[in-house]
Amino acid sequence: MDLYSTLRGAYRAWKRWKQRNTYVPMSRVRRIERVYPPAERKLVSMTFDDGPTVAPARPYSGRGITELILEVMSHYGAKGTFDVIGSTAENYPDEAGKPGSFTWSGKKYDHYPEFGQDQLAGVANQPDLVRKILMAGHELSNHGYRHMAFGPQPIIYGSRAYFRTIEEVITDLKRLHTLVSEEFGFSMTLGRPPHYIDRIPDGHFSYDAYEALGYQYLAASFDGGGWRAATGDPADEVEKMVTPMQKALEEDPDCLNGQIIFQKDGYNMSLQAPIVEALPKQLALLKRYDYEVIPVGQLLAVSPYRDIGPSHPAYAAVRHLEAKGLPVLYPDNTFRPEQPCLVGEMLQWLPYKDTLSSFCRDQLTVGMLLRMVPEKAASFAGITTRETSRPVPRWQAALAAVESIENG
Ligand SMILES: [Zn+2]
Repeated sequence: MDLYSTLRGAYRAWKRWKQRNTYVPMSRVRRIERVYPPAERKLVSMTFDDGPTVAPARPYSGRGITELILEVMSHYGAKGTFDVIGSTAENYPDEAGKPGSFTWSGKKYDHYPEFGQDQLAGVANQPDLVRKILMAGHELSNHGYRHMAFGPQPIIYGSRAYFRTIEEVITDLKRLHTLVSEEFGFSMTLGRPPHYIDRIPDGHFSYDAYEALGYQYLAASFDGGGWRAATGDPADEVEKMVTPMQKALEEDPDCLNGQIIFQKDGYNMSLQAPIVEALPKQLALLKRYDYEVIPVGQLLAVSPYRDIGPSHPAYAAVRHLEAKGLPVLYPDNTFRPEQPCLVGEMLQWLPYKDTLSSFCRDQLTVGMLLRMVPEKAASFAGITTRETSRPVPRWQAALAAVESIENG
C-alpha cells in the first residue's frame, strides 16, 4: 500500500469516527442524493436545473434548449425532474459578468438563460414549455423563484446578493410553488437551493425552509457535466460529459442504480449548450446498460432511503414511523440501522412522548432524566436495557417502537 492510500484510509476512518461521534438530530427533511439500489430494476434519475427555456441551443442548433431535451427524452422513453425557476427578470440593477467564470450570468444575481435575456426562461415567462414538460410525464421541482442564494458564499460567490432571513427564502419558494400549483395543477414536493448554499444568515438552514413547505431536499450524486465552462471545442465538451458515465458503467454496470444525475437545462458557463448533444449519447449508454430513467419522485417511491432497502428487517417499521410524521431518518437520508439508538430518539417515536417530555421537563433534573428515561422508554418499547445494559441498535428500537405504538 502506498502512502497516498494509507492517508486516504486514515482520513476515511477519521471521517467515520467523527460521524459516529457527532450528534446529528433526526430530520423530516432529508437530502436526497442517491438511494439504496433498487433490487428488481435498474433505476436512475436526471435533474435539469435552471429552466425551462426557449433560448436557442448553441452552437449546435437554433432551436430551444428545453424543447430539444424533451424530444430526446421522449425518443428514449426517459422521464426527468425539471428543477425550475420562476423568473430572474427582477434581479436588476446588475452588471454582466465574465463568460467562463462563476459570474457568467451576472455579477450580483443570476440571470437565466443569460444576462439581459431573462424573459426567455422560467415558469412565469414560458408557460407553454411548462405544460409540455408536464404533459410528457416529467415532474417539476422548486429551484427558487428568483434563483437567489439563500445566504452568503464568500469563496466563489463573493459579489452575490442573498436572502437575509428564512421568511424571505420561504416567500420566494412559496411564490413559485403557488404559481406552479395554481397555473399548472402540479404540487411540487422537492427543492434544491441555488448553488447548494444552505446557510441562511439568520441562523436557519435550507432544511428549515423545506420543512415549512413539506419538501424533501433534492441533491444529486453523479455530475452530468453540462454546467462547466466550455473548452472552446464543442465536440470536446460533449466527450467530457459522456466519457465519465461510460467509464463508470464499464467498471461497474450497476453503479448508477439508485443515483441522481445532475443536468443543466440552459447554457454552461461559456454560454453554450453541450447538453443538447451529450444527452442522447448519455441516454443511449443508459439504455445499453438496461437502465430506466424515471423522475426522482418515482425513484423515491421505490427506494426512499440511502442505506436500507425493502429487504432490511426494519424497513417496514421505518416507513411506518415516517408515515406517522415522526422524524426517523438523518438529514443525509440515512437510517444508520446499526448505530445505538439514543434515548431522545426513541422518545420521539413513542406515543407517550408528550406526557413523558412534559413530566421530565417539570419534575426532573438532567441527571435524573438520563437515569430514569432509558428505563421508561425501554419498558414502553418492550426492551429491557437494565438487564443487558448494552446499547440497542436503531433498527431494533424502531421495531420495538412500532410494536409499542400498535399495542396502544
Ligand atoms: Zn441553479
